[in-house]
Amino acid sequence: MEDIRKGVCPLCWHNQVIQGWPLDFASGMQNPLALAHVQSFVTGPRQDKPLGPLLTYTCRRCGYTQWFVKDPETVPIDEKAHTRLIEGRPEPGGPYR
Ligand SMILES: [Zn+2]
Repeated sequence: MEDIRKGVCPLCWHNQVIQGWPLDFASGMQNPLALAHVQSFVTGPRQDKPLGPLLTYTCRRCGYTQWFVKDPETVPIDEKAHTRLIEGRPEPGGPYR
């Protein structure tokens, strides 16, 4: 499958893709949607720190959209972030894939 982040839609092959950064307004503040959040213990009202903000890539012709996490390698894997790492088979290597 074609990577939509390169500017080509994998469904209709259109060559215009819109990158977006969706926000959540539920708490009365603008917070980026993210893979995970941890509580930030600063004075004042409770705040959640987003970990791995989500980016969207949308084909400008057909509307097909994919979500990606910005800098996924920086997202911690632990109970505080409510994240769990699932490891699959090793990535193929060598000349025969
Ligand atoms: Zn498309």
